[in-house]
Amino acid sequence: MNSINPAFSFDTNATSPVPLLDINRSNVAIRDEVLQLWTEIYDQGGFIGGPHVKNLEARLAEVCQVKHVIACASGSDALVLALMAAEVEPGDEVIVPAFTFFATASAVWRLGATPVFADIDPVTFNMDPTHVRSLINNHTKAIIPVHLFGLSCDMSAYREICEQQDLWLIEDCAQSIGARYQDQLVGAIGDMGCFSFYPSKNLGGFGDGGFMTTNDDELARKLRVFANHGMTETYRHEYVGINSRLDSLQAAALWVKCRQLDEIAQQRRENAERYRQLFAEAQLDRDLILPTEPTDCYHVWNQFTIRVPDGRRDEVKAALAERKIGAAIYYPTPLSQQRCFASLGYSEGSLPHTEQACREVLSLPVFPGLTMSEQRRVVAALQNAWHQPAALRAAG
Ligand SMILES: *Cc1c(COP(=O)(O)O)cnc(C)c1O
Repeated sequence: MNSINPAFSFDTNATSPVPLLDINRSNVAIRDEVLQLWTEIYDQGGFIGGPHVKNLEARLAEVCQVKHVIACASGSDALVLALMAAEVEPGDEVIVPAFTFFATASAVWRLGATPVFADIDPVTFNMDPTHVRSLINNHTKAIIPVHLFGLSCDMSAYREICEQQDLWLIEDCAQSIGARYQDQLVGAIGDMGCFSFYPSKNLGGFGDGGFMTTNDDELARKLRVFANHGMTETYRHEYVGINSRLDSLQAAALWVKCRQLDEIAQQRRENAERYRQLFAEAQLDRDLILPTEPTDCYHVWNQFTIRVPDGRRDEVKAALAERKIGAAIYYPTPLSQQRCFASLGYSEGSLPHTEQACREVLSLPVFPGLTMSEQRRVVAALQNAWHQPAALRAAG
């Protein structure tokens, strides 16, 4: 094997890979309980709606400290449904970050409205309220701050902007269940919150799923109706809605997994803190830029995303991959520069902080169940990659 791959010939303590995410380390503890519930549902044959969905919604309303929770088929649908409830239409503009997952912007596009991209604050990676303010005009209908990587946006600023300008405030909480801004939970601060159960999220499900939160009774009614074909009574359609429901199997399993939520956030926070110590010990914290937790926020670390400066990000990522250490780039391209949005007319230089982040970010393993020795290996590999002399790097 050494003759085939000389890169590994000196690696005498070759160990197992460190994955970016190992879902099973959380899910194994609830396996029997979930399979028991799934067997019951299988035998009863009730796969849509029913008590499992109701119970999950009630549990999530407690978790998120909101009056209403409406389950749906994905986080992407949650965003579309929230925009439908806000009556966003063609001609309207909705301000979104360009540094986020695609769904934040595609939901706006799907309704025929125009996504308007704002730049980020380079320290938090979250959308910059000052830039948002400068983008507001008569067509602006809503703002979607994304609590990226598990960190809340500056919600005082967004609340103030939306109150002053009479705009809808829709929180994209897909990566941030349990995150807090001051003493408030995300999803309970704006008009509506949109969450995802995609398996890589902090409350990861067993397939696709999502939900919306609101404290407003009329919005809650509309969200529920829109998620079920716009149907107000059996076969009476007040609106043209969509089919977006959460399966009973999914709801039952997630209800069990809710029990782990505090533990999940706690472990992710401990892992983030451990990286801080390990980076300092390795004296890497001056060269690589670590993510931070603002004093008024409670971060839930869906991603631990560092910056690798000097144009060396891709090289460092490749060096980690060689040592079988998982790392990923969230996100490599500003949404403003995706081909599907070319007609919006953004070009390179439009959103400088977003573009720089896309060149520098690297997300490291931070999932619950990650061990201290695995974290040490991640940092050791980074140290090695970073300090490898340029001549050696050039020689490959
Ligand atoms: C994952 C994600 C979504 C979409 O959620 P899905 O359940 O995958 O549809 C939306 N916004 C952000 C920021 C996300 O990370």
